[in-house]
Amino acid sequence: MLSKIKESLKNKKALNFEEAVFLFEKIDLMELREIAHEIKFGKNKDIVYWNKNLHINPTNICIGQCKFCLFSKEENQKDAYLLTYQEILDKIQTVKHFNIKEVHIVGGLNPKLSLEYYLRLFEEIKKLDLKLHIKALTAPEIDFFAKKENITIEECLKKLIESGLNSLPGGGAEIFSERIRILYCPSKIPAKDWLYIHETAHKLGLKSNATMLTGLGETTEEKIQHLFLLREQQEKSHGFQSFIPLVRHNKQGSILTAVEILRNIAVSRLILHNFEHIKAYRVQLGNKLTQLALFFGADDIDGTVIEEKITSQGNYKFINEEEIKKLIQTSGFTAKERNSLYEEIEI
Ligand code: SF4
Repeated sequence: MLSKIKESLKNKKALNFEEAVFLFEKIDLMELREIAHEIKFGKNKDIVYWNKNLHINPTNICIGQCKFCLFSKEENQKDAYLLTYQEILDKIQTVKHFNIKEVHIVGGLNPKLSLEYYLRLFEEIKKLDLKLHIKALTAPEIDFFAKKENITIEECLKKLIESGLNSLPGGGAEIFSERIRILYCPSKIPAKDWLYIHETAHKLGLKSNATMLTGLGETTEEKIQHLFLLREQQEKSHGFQSFIPLVRHNKQGSILTAVEILRNIAVSRLILHNFEHIKAYRVQLGNKLTQLALFFGADDIDGTVIEEKITSQGNYKFINEEEIKKLIQTSGFTAKERNSLYEEIEI
């Protein structure tokens, strides 16, 4: 089985279901690491990407009620918030000395908000004239606003693009298994709608990312089904830039062990042969596990982020540009700053 898998990988052939099960369940972790690292190396040598970005979560008020969510609040709950335009613009102005290139904007499904809030927000951000790339709104948020406005997904995306949207993040995919969605997030859009929104965005010229949330009691088969659906979508619309394996957290931290996390990263690298980048999301993994993940197929660690509320509950520790580069370099890799479209930034 292993030699057949290696042969398929060498010929850039998609792995089949049986081979994917073997990688998740049978192969020794160190052997898996070696293969994933070789594939990563074949794609982008010893380079590990990072960027200068700022995360902004305009509101945590959400009607979603996903059981794994540590971020959302009901409108009347303590700590529920909705930021004004000025508060968001001030956040950006406060950190502009970091020379950020991207704002990553995602939030809750706040019933008080209309699409107009984001249209104007994007216009105001562009008016700052800081050449910021706006990566914003998960597929469930796009779906929420399209339904509220009674317009199609395509019309909704076109309006957002006109106001300054430059790409989509990969959140809201969770895990595509209907069984898990019923248990944890029954009101969330199903897999086919998530994929359709990304396909439409790709058709309109936007790039996007993809994610998979694990730690929800998913089976190996459910993880493979999720990855295969992403791989098929990429074959059709070619717009995914990176895949980000996410891990469910509770108040104490990650639900998965380090070994499970590393295996998910490595197998994703091997199954998603048509994805250029696999991200070790430093905010969730912490610095040490992120360094380790670079040997398991990951080639990106996200960026400066600056502020994070979704998984870290405000406990995210900011590290600056020099510390990010050091983290990559001391692992033995070459650190390359990229923009939001994975173009290298010349210093
Ligand atoms: S995961 Fe997203 S949609 Fe679900 S409750 Fe949290 S903020 Fe709302």
